[in-house]
Amino acid sequence: MTQDSAPGQVVTRIAPSPTGEMHIGTARTALFNWLYARGRGGRFLLRVEDTDRARSTPEATEAILRGLDWLGLDHDEEPVSQHARAARHAEVAREMLNKGQAYKCFATQEEIQAFREAARAEGTSTLYRSPWRDADPATHPDAPHVIRVKAPETGETVIDDQVQGRVTVRNDQLDDMVILRSDGSPTYMLAVVVDDHDMGVTHVIRGDDHLNNAARQMTIYAAMGWPLPVYAHIPLIFGPDGKKLSKRHGATGVAEYRAMGYPAAGMRNYLARLGWSHGDDEFFTDEQAMAWFDLDGINKAPARFDFKKLANLCGQHIAAMSDDALLREIDAHLSATGAAPLTDAQRDAMSQAMPSLKDRAKTYPELLEKAHFCLTSRPVVPDDKAAAALDDVSRGILSELTLQLQTASWTRDALETLVGELAQAHGTKLGKLAGPLRAALAGRTVSPSVFDMMLVLGRAETVARLEDVTG
Ligand code: GLU
Repeated sequence: MTQDSAPGQVVTRIAPSPTGEMHIGTARTALFNWLYARGRGGRFLLRVEDTDRARSTPEATEAILRGLDWLGLDHDEEPVSQHARAARHAEVAREMLNKGQAYKCFATQEEIQAFREAARAEGTSTLYRSPWRDADPATHPDAPHVIRVKAPETGETVIDDQVQGRVTVRNDQLDDMVILRSDGSPTYMLAVVVDDHDMGVTHVIRGDDHLNNAARQMTIYAAMGWPLPVYAHIPLIFGPDGKKLSKRHGATGVAEYRAMGYPAAGMRNYLARLGWSHGDDEFFTDEQAMAWFDLDGINKAPARFDFKKLANLCGQHIAAMSDDALLREIDAHLSATGAAPLTDAQRDAMSQAMPSLKDRAKTYPELLEKAHFCLTSRPVVPDDKAAAALDDVSRGILSELTLQLQTASWTRDALETLVGELAQAHGTKLGKLAGPLRAALAGRTVSPSVFDMMLVLGRAETVARLEDVTG
């Protein structure tokens, strides 16, 4: 456990509970924490909150690690398992007990239930008030008990939140929460505080569903005399209809976006914009995001997930990537989705074609679809739409073209002139000829320009593909 941060060094963390898939909201919270730390020479830590043994699974922990890795959100140090620190949590509970900041409570479930029923009947607060709070330890029975924190009974707790502003909670709304159960296991509230303290966390940036917890957690900080972290509770993510983002709206899991082939750089850019802004900037790099990210740019109102905007930004990131980087990304995408890797010939053709492929592809499958012409081999089987472009008239023109291509000079200018003149000779437009030509070369209706394809394929392959359809 580290507490050796340099004075003033920012330490943030992501503390996911490993249950089920990694949610896009967790990814955004991780990103905000990562940006905040990385932009300030700080550290970004990972704690797996696996105290709920019934719900936590190793698969879910794996999903978190994979998701963070794919998103490029590298964390410092080994991940911390909250469950593994149970003894330390219990130690702190006992310390609080010794300092008189916590007490043993012997109330049974039935007694607590009876208290609540009576309070309800009398119309008073149902927050449990234990008679053991001020009991003389000499009167303690030798019986099972929990340990409760001695919460302040009067006054207010103020959360000075960097996003929500000043949030005031009346202390008579806070109960003496249990910090150690009768079986000696720590509660979640205690574990979070002890871990954040021991990990040296200086900034707690998390979902605003934890805002209420903050007031209660502050009681433990106060009892231990520990310095408070800076709190920033960020609004949840909504769907386009303004309701909490759920499967009804579309994919909510990080793994789903990866499988759909969105580039991680585009995801980072989009998730950063989801609830945070820097002027009117929409498209930016990680370096810019790190330099710009600050807590006062986080919006107080929930962000709405905009699938179109995500796709749009992803397209811009694909277009901006270097050809080599893009090829590596394609390799990783194929491997992550269990598809066959590219052959050497396919890689060569794709890297030659890359400048014409990366334009306007929003995902890797879109880019691969566009690359179909250089991934497929003869005979090229046209899909239905492409086949419709290959009527008898166009086949006739294509066979004329085939002859001319045997001797044409293989440059873009020469090819454009040749095809243009041929179209003109037949009283048609270049665009009309491009359809059948595209069908013959790619077997698709979406592809790079016919000239780009001819240049990548070379004369022999181009002529052979044309001969295949003009036979
Ligand atoms: N484990 C909590 C969650 O997944 C986060 C707790 C925290 O950030 O303090 O929602």
